[in-house]
This record gives sequence, C-alpha cells and structure tokens, in this order.
Amino acid sequence: MTKANIGVVGLAVMGSNLARNLASREGNTVAVYNRSYERTELLITEHPEAGFIAAADIDAFVASLAKPRTAIIMVQAGKGTDAVISQLTERFEPGDIIVDGGNALFTDTIRREKEVSAKGINFVGAGISGGEEGALKGPSIMPGGSAEAYKTLGPILASIAAIAEGEPCVTHVGTDGAGHFVKMIHNGIEYADMQLIAEAYDILRHAGGYSPAEIAEIFEEWNKGDLESFLIEITAEVLKQVDAKTGKPLVDVILDQAGSKGTGVWTVQTALNLGTPVSGIAEAVFARSLSSQASQRAAVDGLPADATKWSVSDKAAFVEDVRRALYASKLVAYSQGFDAIRAGAKEYNWNINLGAVSKIWRGGCIIRAQFLNRIADAYDKNANLESLIFDPFFKQAVATSVSSWRQVVANASLAGIPVPAFASSLSYYDGLRSPRLSAALVQGQRDFFGAHTYKRVDMEGTFHTLWSGDRSEVEQAPSTH
Ligand code: NAP
Repeated sequence: MTKANIGVVGLAVMGSNLARNLASREGNTVAVYNRSYERTELLITEHPEAGFIAAADIDAFVASLAKPRTAIIMVQAGKGTDAVISQLTERFEPGDIIVDGGNALFTDTIRREKEVSAKGINFVGAGISGGEEGALKGPSIMPGGSAEAYKTLGPILASIAAIAEGEPCVTHVGTDGAGHFVKMIHNGIEYADMQLIAEAYDILRHAGGYSPAEIAEIFEEWNKGDLESFLIEITAEVLKQVDAKTGKPLVDVILDQAGSKGTGVWTVQTALNLGTPVSGIAEAVFARSLSSQASQRAAVDGLPADATKWSVSDKAAFVEDVRRALYASKLVAYSQGFDAIRAGAKEYNWNINLGAVSKIWRGGCIIRAQFLNRIADAYDKNANLESLIFDPFFKQAVATSVSSWRQVVANASLAGIPVPAFASSLSYYDGLRSPRLSAALVQGQRDFFGAHTYKRVDMEGTFHTLWSGDRSEVEQAPSTH
C-alpha cells in the first residue's frame, strides 16, 4: 500500500486547504484525518485530484504515514490541539515529527515541545499566516522546533509556502516556541497596521470630506508607492463595495464594533512582561475594545467635543500629509514588533534572524508589503540594529514625514477625530528621540513614597533622599544578592 510522506489532522478551512496545497506539489502523498469523518468525506469527494489517503480513525491515519512519520495538526487551538497531540504521541515513534500549525500561544508550544520531545518525538510549533487563501495557494510559515526536525520538514514547507522575490516564505525561526512567538508578533503588527489604515480613512473622510469610493481611489494610488501592501489593497476593495440592500457604501452599514481572536492581546501581554513598548499595537487592541463597549457607547449623552473644524484648503497637500503620517506610524508599529521579537529571543534563548523574519513576511501573510523589503535591507546591512528607526533609509523617511505627522495628529486632536495609534506612535517616536525624559521625575516620586532609590547622572551608585527626614541624600549599599 502507498504510504503518505505527510499527513494533516483537522480538516476545517485551514487544514483542508493546506492538505490540498501539499497534495498539489510534486512528490507529496498526503494522508488526511478529521475527528468527525464528514469533513474528511467532503474533502476527498470534492477533491479526488488530490489523491488523498483518507483515514477514518487515528490508528488508520498513523498507519498510513511513511517513516519517519510527519503530521501537521490544524485543529482548534488549545484543548483540541492538546487532544490530538496526545493521540499522536501515543502512536508515534522516536524520530517522527508532529507539527502544530494552529495559532498556539508560544508558551503552550514550549510546554508541548518539552513533553513530546521527552519521548524522542520531534515537536514543531509552526505559525502559519495567510488565512484560508494563503493555506491553499502559499502561506508564510514560521516554524520553530529542533534543527533536526527542520531538515525533514523544511523542504516540504518550502514547497507549499508563498514565494517572494524568488524565495520561499519560510525559515527555521528558532527552537521550541520561537515560530509561534514570531507569528504572534506578526498578528500584533497586523492589528496596528489595520488600525492605522482605519485612522487614515477616518481623517480623509471626516476632515477631508472624501467619500468611501474616493478614499478607495486614494488608497489605490498609495498602493503604487511606499505603502504598497495587501492591507492597503484590500482596504480599497472594502471601501469600493456598495451594499446591495441599501445602495450605501458597505462600510457605512457595517456595525462599528471590531472583534478579535486574541493574538493581539497575547502580543501586548507578552510585551508587557518583556518590558518592551509596543504602544502602537496596544492602542490598536484597545481601539477594538473601545469600539466593542456597546452599552457604554450607547449611554454617551452629548459629551462635549469643543472641537474646531479642520479646514483643509489644499486637498492634495492634506492627503499627502495623511499618507506620510500613516507611513511614519506604520514604521513605528513594525519597529516595535521587531523590538518585541528581539526581546523575546533574548528571554527565551532563541537565535532569531530578524532579517530572515522580515523576508518571510514579504509574501503569503496578511502584513505582506513592499515595506518589508526595506526592513530586510536594514537588517542585512546591520543585524544588530538597535531600532529600525535608526536605519539610514527609515531615518530619512521619518525626517521627510515628521512635520506632516505632527500636523495630522494635532489637527485630528483639535477636530475631535480619535487617532490613538497615530498619536501614540508619534509620542513613542518623540520619547525615543528625547535626550532627557520625564522619567527622572517619576524616579523621584518613586523614591519619595516607596524609597525605591534612583541613580544620578553625575556619579556611580544608587541613592535615596531621606524625604521624611532632613531630605539629605544617602547612598545605598550595593546589594549582596
Ligand atoms: P477551527 O475552526 O479553529 O477548528 C476546527 C477544527 O478543529 C475541526 O477540524 C475540528 O474537528 C477540530 N477539533 C476541535 N476540537 C478537537 C478535538 N478535541 N479533537 C480533534 N479535533 C478537534 O479551524 P480552522 O479555522 O481551520 O483553523 C485551524 C487552526 O489554524 C486553528 O488553530 C486556527 O487558530 C489556525 N489558523 C486559522 C486561520 C484562519 O484564517 N482561519 C489562520 C491562521 C491560523 P471536528 O470537525 O471534528 O469538529
């Protein structure tokens, strides 16, 4: 009997598309299994061309795989994933490979890798981005796990990944949870990018007086330049859409409450733990939370705005200002995301190549953008770049944009248009470039109420002022711990 060189467990939208993608590549025979057989039946009936080996139960699935067995799990993240991992680990042998392609929290992946590898079985947490279309036509893939497993898995993943500039959008990101960590940050950046585009739309609409169809044209124009990206492209498509029921722009009949599935929250929680500011991403997550506070928003009764009209005299200059503000804010969001990856790599001992990460995001995934070529160039030139904003190309881009950025944030604020991501990105930039921050005063306050001590700019050591005594300064003895 022919055996499969790869298997897929979980045949909902992502798993069935990934299985079809695998089957369409030369040399692959794909085994498929789903907890409820109906999905398996549907897939093999609709796609006889794929030549799937369909298994009705987990034993038949395992038996249909050639050794070393390789199975990709595409089931509901959390308990579903744990259930399938335990079924496979009971049946797999040392050297076999279990891949979790779902959206797992990276700390779960670290735990699972420990448990599974203790049995000699390889476990690879692989972030897969691109939604259902990406899974079918070529996603961006972010695998973690051991280098040994990647030797077998790498060529298979490369064969199904998106291609950008001739290179497959997959790289061995790092060990254990590194792949899912990077996928999580990818999603966090996606939140920020979407929010920034939405804020640009809101300004063009409410200050510029453009209709959704006109803004779609502006975005189509922007998509020919530095901002060229999947998200700008689909935004233009959404804005062009007219509601068949009312004849209004679709965007005007969609309820303004944004949902989420949690990866943005994970990014922010993780960044808080790592002490890395991801303010653009955080504001994007909070903006969705605010939009969804339905009862609070419904209860608002004429809160004063005291706003002034943003009078736009030169429309072309106004649109260009918004474009530049968007570009600069977007740079901050990506820069913060890469900072979080660097911090995560340090904390969890992953050797993550930031340039390679930016390259695999150039195709297949939701944040794919022209911009990522620039980021890849920046890390190619200097792998230890402290911040993307310090790269000469981006420094120049910000220099060109900063005045527009300030005008847009200030005018939006005066006009009462909420721009949390634009404004926080600009504040982050100002914080980063300020030679001296108000943090000195915060340290003074902390020392006052909690004797938390401070350092001085002019001498070594740790100091405390005797605030409730004679207010003289004492030097703290160095810690013996
Ligand atoms: P999903 O709706 O997240 O999950 C449904 C699948 O999980 C079904 O095959 C279901 O089997 C299976 N399942 C649930 N609990 C199970 C259990 N205890 N034991 C065995 N199987 C179980 O499917 P999806 O949208 O295709 O996503 C799959 C994975 O990819 C998820 O982790 C998701 O987060 C991730 N992902 C999704 C997208 C996307 O755009 N949808 C993008 C990237 C990543 P039954 O048919 O028997 O119920």
